[in-house]
Amino acid sequence: MPDVASLRRDLVTANRILAHQGVVDGFGHVSVRHPDNPQKFLLARSRSPELVTNDDIREFDLDGKMIKSDGSSAYLERFIHAAIYHRRSDINGVVHSHSEALLPYGITSVPLRPVFHNAARIGKTVPVWDIRDNFGDTDLLVVNLEQGRDLAKKLGNNRLVLMRGHGLTAAAETLYTAVTTAIYAVVNARVQTTALQMGEVNYLSAGEIECALEKAAASAIGHRRIWEYLSKRAGCEDL
Ligand SMILES: [Zn+2]
Repeated sequence: MPDVASLRRDLVTANRILAHQGVVDGFGHVSVRHPDNPQKFLLARSRSPELVTNDDIREFDLDGKMIKSDGSSAYLERFIHAAIYHRRSDINGVVHSHSEALLPYGITSVPLRPVFHNAARIGKTVPVWDIRDNFGDTDLLVVNLEQGRDLAKKLGNNRLVLMRGHGLTAAAETLYTAVTTAIYAVVNARVQTTALQMGEVNYLSAGEIECALEKAAASAIGHRRIWEYLSKRAGCEDL
């Protein structure tokens, strides 16, 4: 397990990568579970991801409360992260984004499904959570623990959940996998949308998805290679 200092650095890198890749803009956020205390997670104070520095990282508990509050503002939707870490002990990284490429799959009956090998990481099933089902008319944001826990329930044992009229949340066993799942979910959505306009789509089979996931899980070299590439492109040499 990495130490806190290196995880904080990775979290800053993750913020910049997701911004550089266009997965997040002024909104959206990424977190990582605390390596020494599974009842805590690290998340930036309310700031645009591209601008996040080490000084912006704060600790939160699994109720979404900032530990050692210093007067800085927290993201309104921190409950997404808190609820997922609470429900899924296997999850160590969470990304929330409003990427427009995914929105069509949350507002139509067309399911998002992997259409190429690198997107296998989004998994066989991508559920859609509709906040209106249990909370009626809202501004669609996840602003309390109850809503966060309802979203976490819909995520189930999957890696990705779409949020109707809002965005997506990716959750994975490592920060790296959460980040790349969010990135490839966006790429997959773009490719799938283009393909659907051209005709019948030939999706990855369940067996192909499992095979690609097994290979990816075993490839530490591949992980380092992608992370190095993404962080260099996002201008993280100073970290
Ligand atoms: Zn949101």
